[in-house]
Amino acid sequence: MYQIIIIGGGPSGLMAAAAASADGERVLLLEKKKGLGRKLKISGGGRCNVTNRLPYDEIIKNIPGNGKFLYSPFSIFDNESIIAFFESRGVKLKEEDHGRMFPVSNKAQDVVDTLVTTLHQNKVEVKEESTVEKVEYTSTDSFKVTLNNQKEYQSKSLIIATGGTSVPQTGSTGDGYKFATSLGHTITELFPTEVPITSAEPFIKDKRLKGLSLKDVGVSVLKKNGKKRITHQMDMIFTHFGISGPAALRCSQFVYKEQKNQKKQDIDMQIDAFPQLTTDALEQEIRGLLNAAPDKYVKNSLHGLIEERYLQFMIDCAEIDEDLTAHHISNTQINTLVALFKGFTFKVNGTLPIDKAFVTGGGVSLKEIQPKTMMSKLVPGLFLCGEVLDIHGYTGGYNITSALVTGHVAGLNAGSFSTTID
Ligand SMILES: Cc1cc2nc3c(=O)[nH]c(=O)nc-3n(C[C@H](O)[C@H](O)[C@H](O)COP(=O)(O)OP(=O)(O)OC[C@H]3O[C@@H](n4cnc5c(N)ncnc54)[C@H](O)[C@@H]3O)c2cc1C
Repeated sequence: MYQIIIIGGGPSGLMAAAAASADGERVLLLEKKKGLGRKLKISGGGRCNVTNRLPYDEIIKNIPGNGKFLYSPFSIFDNESIIAFFESRGVKLKEEDHGRMFPVSNKAQDVVDTLVTTLHQNKVEVKEESTVEKVEYTSTDSFKVTLNNQKEYQSKSLIIATGGTSVPQTGSTGDGYKFATSLGHTITELFPTEVPITSAEPFIKDKRLKGLSLKDVGVSVLKKNGKKRITHQMDMIFTHFGISGPAALRCSQFVYKEQKNQKKQDIDMQIDAFPQLTTDALEQEIRGLLNAAPDKYVKNSLHGLIEERYLQFMIDCAEIDEDLTAHHISNTQINTLVALFKGFTFKVNGTLPIDKAFVTGGGVSLKEIQPKTMMSKLVPGLFLCGEVLDIHGYTGGYNITSALVTGHVAGLNAGSFSTTID
């Protein structure tokens, strides 16, 4: 009989194991794959965006999927606690743009190694290549965990830290939803978030903009009435199937939600290529460039305004002839061009599937979880943490922060729960 069994060796399970074992509890961690923290190792482009140093309110804003739930666990273990955890174990961290924290070494492996070393020091039993198939709450108020090779383990408390269902080759195949359901929990609707967006527009299908990046543009998802549901001002890239890059990834969950709201597949998105300029200011700039080179073709007089391929695309959309010189352009054509730059609207028809998403939206309902302990309100001794919960953030360290924070709180309380009932 173990005091605590943890299912899943991602950031939430590893941090839960570190906290649960801190006072010498007998802890078993079961991981399906060979090697721990596989998803953590590929996060942040292999550099591991281990947390974020923005103030709480900003962090919560960047976790549109129930971020407010984290205020409670943050009061016990927060982003600064994560930084202290790693730095006190020799992993120096550095802050990059938007508060993103990375190891100075730029190696995700250092983060994983630190968690694994802590587990070894605390004598946590780790069994890799151990796929849990079934969990049961027994009549003796303990948990029975059965592997797919029929091996059985028992514990006083159980932590489900199996992650979501995106990028399943890392081991996160959504098994935790099945375990939680079998113990009486509700799973909210699962959907892909932080995922590239697809479009069947001719300019996407003919790949004319494929590979083109736009820097610091405003990308919006539009509601049925044409108003903006959400705008993210960041970089984006056109791909052979649609759009991607930070702004598009952040918008992706709203594409999914608007499709549901509008009850149709095709919805509108908009790109403001000059979010820092008002329409009037952009018009003045364009008129200035045209007036400075009146005998040049429009495209040549506007050279340098924006990436060449996007400029040509906008000129084509405005139906301005290739051989029109700047001094022949009409006021209507200038206005059309300015309007297109400020709000190019196009149809999108969805996102890539959930297995291609960086993060899974939805999960175990938070109404059934105590925010101060991460214990189930339905089954005493059952704890849940990480992406298996109905919490999802933008990329930028927010999901990993959520996993480490909820993992720590779950581990801490699973430890005290199992010793109280000794
Ligand atoms: C390419 C990529 C980049 C990302 N970049 C960022 C980023 O920059 N910032 C950010 O905040 N987030 C990022 N994320 C998301 C982040 O990595 C996850 O939110 C985080 O890893 C979730 O941690 P977790 O411990 O809850 O689950 P996971 O990391 O998914 O770990 C779950 C573990 O449980 C194991 N498991 C599952 N089922 C079983 C079972 N039946 N038996 C035993 N073990 C089981 C799995 O093998 C896995 O090891 C990225 C994700 C991807 C895919």
